[in-house]
Amino acid sequence: MFRNASELMESSPQDCYRSHVISFKWEDFQPVLTERVISSGEVRRLSMDPLDIFVSEARRCVGGEEACDAVLEGRMSHCRVCDSFPVQECRFQPRCRGTMCDDTVCGDPHVVYLAVFAANLKVGMTRSSRLTERGMEQGADMIISVGEYGSRMEARSAEQSLSRSRGIPQTMSLASLVNCLGDDSLAQAKARWEEVASSFTPLTEIVLDGYPLKGLDGAPRIMPSAGKHRGEVLGAKGRLAVYRDELGMLKALDMKDLVSRFIGTAPSLCAQSTLF
Ligand SMILES: [Zn+2]
Ligand SMILES: [Zn+2]
Repeated sequence: MFRNASELMESSPQDCYRSHVISFKWEDFQPVLTERVISSGEVRRLSMDPLDIFVSEARRCVGGEEACDAVLEGRMSHCRVCDSFPVQECRFQPRCRGTMCDDTVCGDPHVVYLAVFAANLKVGMTRSSRLTERGMEQGADMIISVGEYGSRMEARSAEQSLSRSRGIPQTMSLASLVNCLGDDSLAQAKARWEEVASSFTPLTEIVLDGYPLKGLDGAPRIMPSAGKHRGEVLGAKGRLAVYRDELGMLKALDMKDLVSRFIGTAPSLCAQSTLF
């Protein structure tokens, strides 16, 4: 049925796509994306095999137990109401030691870690119980805790001072990660860590060698999330799923950036519009 521009303006992404992507995590070296089917509300694992999805530009809050419709700002995947951090700022720049947040995360034990991606180092902090998972979701070859703290706030402050004093970045760009997908990445990471290990006090050293991505012949091109992704999935590391499209080009899709977007299988009339 033909729909004119004003009708499209009034429709929402929920009318045009199959499902809403609501979470992304790594479990035992397998990336797990979850989708909520719009028509039934069913929550299920999003299958990437075969890869044939059309991704929306639009993003909406992923909700909690219940679906939520809030339009998002910035790169958050939850609105303020649905965020598991009652004080949303505490997610990135903690303002309390668990006292303002009616939640235990800010007051939980945290570690400062070094993540090694081929020859690149990054410093970060996470809950002590999530060290391995944090390494995996970022696609690090090794993750090493170098300090333990009683709260998220103290860990963030220690992370920032380590970053400043040693000149180690707190972020790893996707553009850099894309060059750490080859089979030699782990050997480079081990060599890099050996060079610097004696100047830290390592507490726990974890080697992350089980990513389902082997024998890649070149660096893939990172694709914008919105739009069509179709091809054979070759594997994944961190946020990136690598696939070969129908023309044989190696491409990478940022799985974390799918969260809060809508997906369908084929570009519908709605999806083709630039509105979503
Ligand atoms: Zn919400
Ligand atoms: Zn807090």
